[in-house]
Amino acid sequence: MTESRYRLPRHVVPHRYDLTIEPDLERATFTGRVDIAITIEEATDEIVLNALELEFGEIALTNARGQTRSVTVTFEKEEERARLVLADEAAPGDWSLSIAFEGILNDKLRGFYRSTFIDNEGNERAIATTQFEATDARRAFPCWDEPDFKAVFAITLVVDADLLAVSNNRQIDRQPAGNGKVAVRYADTMKMSTYLVAFVVGPLEATDPVDVDGIPLRVVHAPGKGHLTGFALEAGAHFLHWLADYYAIPYPGDKMDFIAIPDFSFGAMENLGAVTFRENAVLVDPQVARQVELERVSSVIAHELAHMWFGDLVTMKWWNGIWLNEAFATFMEMLASDSFRPEWKTWLEFAPSRGYALDTDALATTRPVEFDVDAPDEADQMFDSLTYQKGSALLRMLQQFLGEETFRRGVGDYLRAHEHGNTETHDLWAALEQASGQPVGAMMNSWIFQGGFPEVEISHSPDGDGLLVEQRRFGYLPQVAGGEWHVPLVVRISDGATEETTTAIVGATPEEVRAHGPVEWAVANAGGNGFFRVRYTPELMDGLVARLDQLDPLERYTLLDDSWAQVKAGRVDSGTYLDLASRYQGETEAAVWGLLAGTLDRLHRIVQPERRPAFEGWVRGLIEPAAERLGWVPEEGEDDLTRKLRGTLLRALGTTGKQGHAREQARRIVDRLLESPESVDPDVAVAAVYITASAGTEADYQRFSEKYQHATDPQAEDRFMYSLAEFPQPGLAEETFTMTLDGRIRTSNGPMVVGRLLAGETNGDLAWELIKINWDRLLELFPPMILKRAVETIWTRHNRADDVRAFLATHEVPHGDKAIAQALERLDVAEGLAKRESNRLSAYLNRS
Ligand SMILES: [Zn+2]
Repeated sequence: MTESRYRLPRHVVPHRYDLTIEPDLERATFTGRVDIAITIEEATDEIVLNALELEFGEIALTNARGQTRSVTVTFEKEEERARLVLADEAAPGDWSLSIAFEGILNDKLRGFYRSTFIDNEGNERAIATTQFEATDARRAFPCWDEPDFKAVFAITLVVDADLLAVSNNRQIDRQPAGNGKVAVRYADTMKMSTYLVAFVVGPLEATDPVDVDGIPLRVVHAPGKGHLTGFALEAGAHFLHWLADYYAIPYPGDKMDFIAIPDFSFGAMENLGAVTFRENAVLVDPQVARQVELERVSSVIAHELAHMWFGDLVTMKWWNGIWLNEAFATFMEMLASDSFRPEWKTWLEFAPSRGYALDTDALATTRPVEFDVDAPDEADQMFDSLTYQKGSALLRMLQQFLGEETFRRGVGDYLRAHEHGNTETHDLWAALEQASGQPVGAMMNSWIFQGGFPEVEISHSPDGDGLLVEQRRFGYLPQVAGGEWHVPLVVRISDGATEETTTAIVGATPEEVRAHGPVEWAVANAGGNGFFRVRYTPELMDGLVARLDQLDPLERYTLLDDSWAQVKAGRVDSGTYLDLASRYQGETEAAVWGLLAGTLDRLHRIVQPERRPAFEGWVRGLIEPAAERLGWVPEEGEDDLTRKLRGTLLRALGTTGKQGHAREQARRIVDRLLESPESVDPDVAVAAVYITASAGTEADYQRFSEKYQHATDPQAEDRFMYSLAEFPQPGLAEETFTMTLDGRIRTSNGPMVVGRLLAGETNGDLAWELIKINWDRLLELFPPMILKRAVETIWTRHNRADDVRAFLATHEVPHGDKAIAQALERLDVAEGLAKRESNRLSAYLNRS
């Protein structure tokens, strides 16, 4: 392997950073000093470390014998480094490197940055906070900013005495520091990577700590939001305890703070002991939040806490391993959530996320889950659905194949063997191989190091007493081809009387799975956890459709989802799909109805305008019986997923189905909601808000906009904000777009709102024009990582495909080339679907 220009030389190794930082929130600057204990491994006259957008003051290099070296510094901006040249060679041994430095609190949501909020008196208040992953610690202090240069961090923050300051570990000292300031010192951290260091300073409040097996857990938040912390504390306490038990390793930090940050680019960040969150990912009022919002808070917390072991205690060697870090935390988030609220059916609810990953991975422009990462910004491209959702779906498939207890044992062994160290992907496979005796490495490598996934074709074997299984790569477009996988298959077979479940690893050559007798019907992805599509012969398919009620919910989901994927690939027509959909009328699971609602909305946009009313009638015919069973008001003691299902059904009925009654009812509910939010069930409330917005007036828009700007909880803020993108009037769409540019919608939300506008049925084309006109402004305003979120929905503009392609050919999103390439291929798929199915849908509607 050639030494990358982005990798630091290894002849100097840091062990400990004594770091003092003093932010000036008013001037948006900071000063600092770091004393780094280093070992010089071989005599050298230069030391190279990372630093970016920092200015250095005094620098000193000394050792215990009192020797010093004078140092001159040059910055290598492109490589984000400082090169310290020593006047005389320094001998091998332990040295101390001291650097005084200063920098700016930027507004780019990375490094050491500034976030603001409006307090109760209407004044803007500032917070200084950090976000270092992947490579932005170097913007806050000079350091060896690579994950395997682990070191101990002893942090001191010098802050105004009336501000709250938080870092990774417990506060151990607080001394006056003059001018109304205090120096707050924190306990030494464990040996850890620079990207996990955190400090937050601001006019914030903290809840009383909850004791979790001796670890104090708090939520830190902007003043006035204490009433939104209860759910996070309950979930956090459960997960912290449950995870320590699952891994059979105590939590590696000495306290845990969940910190709600008003401006945040990700969902949350797993800094050891000081997890930072977007407000809506941690603050929630269970009385007014709907099911999906509670699920999100719970799963984000579980995810970040899972990282404390997998990521923080044991860390990837280099950024190519980020996928495993994130995939594993996402997998654990589901497992842990399942233990917290079993009635939430976490794995079923995960199905849409896995579906999105399958959708991306069916493109020619997909990528292998793991790939070589050289420059730091290549790692940024790993934070996508292939890392999080495909990666975690693969781990779920593996766990189900190996058995849950075996998998858990292997994971625990892996963590214990490598604690405080760094690993590569094969280290985990080796531990699981050891625990299971199965060829885990060979199997998983076929899924990790090549993009795409197979379609498994199932037919009766010639004598009828078994199944023939073949694989080929699945894709929407003909250019997607090649590759073979070791497919861990779990098959459920019935001869009509008894069922048997068998497993097999299916390779490149067709395989026969034997049964004890004639196969009447079979589920080839039993349990629904496989990361592949299944294609049955018509006979086997009919057998399943006739027995939907004997399938698990997740099996019903995947059967429908696989069929929809075949429609997009052009191998099944939309009429056949609608016939299948109509068999789901008695369905009771929210996730399955969510899939139906989403695909029906897609078809609604494709059907010829004059046939739309007929299609809307068809949609109503499917949904009404289920919606009527549930009504608009939850029953006493009803379970959470039924409430979620009601919201899904009503919304689809009022938007795609354009049912008059639903629209009138929604309007009445909105009136009530605006008066007293607690008086309406949250899932019904959200459905009502979106239904009303979809056919709303200017007056409704003003009311919703007002409500958004004065929302008292982040979930209400979100729903009214996003509803502003749904109004049919072009002038209102334009107003919403303007709000993302002028600060009325936060930078961290703007691209998502723009994405919603772009995906809009009525005003999507207008949004596209606005994006083109304002392109430079968007690039300037939004960090690339979240700007991508807007561009991702560009495929919905397949009616303007040529224009979109031409524009994006000459307009780049920084670090977004992969996302753009995928969005453009999705555009091709959407265009093909529309061309193929528009007439067919009309013909189908004429028949039915
Ligand atoms: Zn994560």
